[in-house]
Amino acid sequence: MSRSSQEIIELFDKYVIPNYTRYPVALTHGEGPFIFDAEGNRYIDFFPGWGCNLFGHSPKPVVEALEHQVERLLHVPNSWYMEEQGVWAQMLSERSFGGKAFFCNSGAEANEAAIKLTRLHSAKGKYKIITFLNSFHGRSMATVTATAQEKYHQGLEPLLPGFVYCPFGDLEAVKNAIDDETAAIMLEPIQGEGGVNMPPKGFLEGLRALCDERGLLLVFDEVQTGCGRTGEWFAYQYFGVTPDIMTLAKTICSGVAAGAMLCKQELAPSLRKGMHASTFGGNPVAASAGIATIKMVEEYGYLDLAKKMGEHIKARMNQWKDELDIVADVRGVGAMIGCELKIDGTCFVQRCMENKVLINCTHGKVIRLLPAVNTPFDVLDEGLDVIEAALRKGA
Ligand SMILES: *Cc1c(COP(=O)(O)O)cnc(C)c1O
Repeated sequence: MSRSSQEIIELFDKYVIPNYTRYPVALTHGEGPFIFDAEGNRYIDFFPGWGCNLFGHSPKPVVEALEHQVERLLHVPNSWYMEEQGVWAQMLSERSFGGKAFFCNSGAEANEAAIKLTRLHSAKGKYKIITFLNSFHGRSMATVTATAQEKYHQGLEPLLPGFVYCPFGDLEAVKNAIDDETAAIMLEPIQGEGGVNMPPKGFLEGLRALCDERGLLLVFDEVQTGCGRTGEWFAYQYFGVTPDIMTLAKTICSGVAAGAMLCKQELAPSLRKGMHASTFGGNPVAASAGIATIKMVEEYGYLDLAKKMGEHIKARMNQWKDELDIVADVRGVGAMIGCELKIDGTCFVQRCMENKVLINCTHGKVIRLLPAVNTPFDVLDEGLDVIEAALRKGA
C-alpha cells in the first residue's frame, strides 16, 4: 500500500458511496496520540477513531492480545460457548452494576438491543420510550428515531412509532410526557454529539426517581462516555445514578468494532431465546480486545489520568474563555471536553488540521476533544497551543 492521498481519493470517488464528508487526507498508520498520512505528515490526534481509540492508535498491549487471539480463533458463532466472551462479560459486569451482557458490533446495535429489551420486558401495551433533544443514539431506523434531531430524520419518514422527545434537563417535561404506554427513558448521561452537554444538577436523580415511581426502565447510552472515558468506568458512576440498562461501544475495544448492552440481572431473561442475535457479537477477537482494554486501563491507572487530563484541558480552555471573546463555555469531564464558541467552529478544525492537530467540532459551535487517555501531557499542551493559536486568530 503506497498510494498518495490524491490517488486514494480518486479510488473513493469511483467506488465508495459518498455519504461522509471526508478531509482530503488519507491516513496510513498511527502510534498512541500520533497519526500519519500517506505523505508522511504527523498529526497530534485529539479525536482518535472518533472517540473509539481510548489509547490512541495501535496500543501495544491490545495489539499483542489481538495477535495471540487471531492465531488461535477468529470467529465462532453464538451457538457455542467461548471463554473470551464469558470473561469479558464478567469484567464489564464487575465494574458496573453486576448485570448481564449482550454483545454486538456497534453503538447503534447496542441501543437497538436496549430498545428491543425495553419492549420485551414491559407489560403489554407499554412501548413508548422518552428520549431527549440533541441526543445521538445511532443510525439504524430505531436508533435514528430515538435520536431527537430532525436533521437526521429528513427523507427517512415514516420513523419508528413510540419515541417521545423532551428537552435535555427538563424534568417537568418528562413528567408530563409519561403516560400509560411509556416503557422507558433513554439518554446519554452526558450528551456527546449534541455538544458535550452535562446534565443539570439533580436531573439524572430525578429521572431515576421517576422511573422507580412509574415502573419505567432507565436506559443510559454510554457508547461515548463508557469504559474510562470520563475518568470513571462509566459516566453513571460519576453522577451516582445507576441505570437499568446501559449500552457501550466506541471505546470498549480500543478501536476494534464492538458493542455491548448490559442490563440488570432481573431483566436478562426478557431478551429470551430466539428474540435477538448478532452473528459477530462477542466474537473472540473483539472479546480479547475488550479484555485487554480493561486490563490496560487498570494496569496504567488511566481512570485517574483521564480525570487529571480533563482538569488540565479545562483549566487551559477557561483561560481562553477569560481572554477571548469567541469562547462561550467550557464543559465535560475526563477525556471528554467541549469548548463552546459563539461562532461556527468549522474554520478552526480546518486551521488546526493545517497545523497538524486533529480536533472535532460538533453541533456547529462546540470544539470537542476525546483525546487518548494515555496522551503525554507535553503532547497535550503542544496540541492545545495549536488550538489556542487558531482561536486567537479569530474566524
Ligand atoms: C457514536 C454513538 C452511537 C452510535 O454508535 P455507532 O457505533 O456509530 O453505531 C450511539 N450513541 C452514542 C452516544 C454515540 O456517541
